Amino acid sequence: MPELLLVGAGHAHLHLIAHAADLVAAGYRVRVLAPPSFDYSGVASATAAGSLPASTGRIDIRALCALQPVDLVEATLVDLDVPGQVATTSTGETLSYDVLSFNVGSVVDTRDLPVDDQVLRVKPLSDLAELSARLEAVPGATVTVIGGGSTGLELATHLSVRPGVARVRLVEAGPTIGADLPAGARRRLVRLLARRGVEVLTNTSVREITGREVLLDSGPLPHDVALLATGLAAPPLLQRVGVGGTHGVPVTATLQHVDHPEIYAGGDCAHFTPQPLPRVGVHGVRQGPVLLASLLARAGGDPLPTYTPPARSLSVLDLGGGVGLAVRGRWWWYGAAALRLKERIDIRWLDKYRSAGTP
Ligand SMILES: Cc1cc2nc3c(=O)[nH]c(=O)nc-3n(C[C@H](O)[C@H](O)[C@H](O)COP(=O)(O)OP(=O)(O)OC[C@H]3O[C@@H](n4cnc5c(N)ncnc54)[C@H](O)[C@@H]3O)c2cc1C
Repeated sequence: MPELLLVGAGHAHLHLIAHAADLVAAGYRVRVLAPPSFDYSGVASATAAGSLPASTGRIDIRALCALQPVDLVEATLVDLDVPGQVATTSTGETLSYDVLSFNVGSVVDTRDLPVDDQVLRVKPLSDLAELSARLEAVPGATVTVIGGGSTGLELATHLSVRPGVARVRLVEAGPTIGADLPAGARRRLVRLLARRGVEVLTNTSVREITGREVLLDSGPLPHDVALLATGLAAPPLLQRVGVGGTHGVPVTATLQHVDHPEIYAGGDCAHFTPQPLPRVGVHGVRQGPVLLASLLARAGGDPLPTYTPPARSLSVLDLGGGVGLAVRGRWWWYGAAALRLKERIDIRWLDKYRSAGTP
């Protein structure tokens, strides 16, 4: 019976766990090495800023695994013997495998910036979850968000409507916030930020972030809380255990490691070598069925399927105060209905893994 080890219960692996019966029928013994719960990033800005209850995006991995023919090892991966095919967990257990798949997400890309440990990172989400408690401890807080991409924008807009936050600053190194957004949507966001009193500093390079100040060429900016949202990068663990580089686990279109066909990777931790992919949830979600089909084909000795990234996909930012911004390619739509659309999509996806675990 080949041992299949799923490391991390991210978007792609949730699909595998929910379809574990098919994997078992194909001959695998399935083990999941992951923390007992998963937090969905689609609602993370809202939960971190206190606009939604902390549990809104939580999936109980223990409960999901209990409903499926899988063994959950509640721990994280800390080491890997690639030639020997043995994984070591944070609890010291060793797990041998025939096939291993990574879906361990990402961390904030600090871009060699000196950053104090006090500064909250937006990923892993366990870091970001501390935001509300930090704000409660400092009534009338000044918050500086570093990074004007989608995540920084979501957080800055949510914080701008959170009671008890006195001042929100958004610092961006480039010439504009929301550089990936259509120009019209960007202008709409600039107006929203101005109306909500968010101070936006563009063309502003940060030299260092301490617990109390953001150091710029022009001098220090004091803060009570700083949030680092400078983009996402692969976890350093992957390089340390010898399966990847700074971009993540290098995989071909079949989602297999370029040198180790028994290792797969999906989501943010994968470096999809056929073409660069942004670190957004849609890839992990869509790679889940490809991974499942690949593992079943592998067991049957059939040709392996490949992942074709969608040319365009819908993304919806939750901007706090009951409004959202939906974007698909150059098309965009701002307002309450955009947020309602996001809520419907998020709830439908979360419910798949919260109900019977059988989407
Ligand atoms: C605040 C915020 C908001 C975002 N909003 C959106 C959005 O609205 N839409 C969107 O498309 N993208 C969004 N993103 C990006 C999104 O987070 C990622 O693209 C997405 O989570 C990637 O999914 P994944 O399955 O690869 O990893 P994740 O969702 O991060 O899941 C990885 C899992 O692996 C576990 N894990 C980590 N290390 C280990 C280990 N060593 N051993 C075992 N398990 C481990 C983690 O606990 C986690 O549960 C947002 C990001 C942030 C920071």
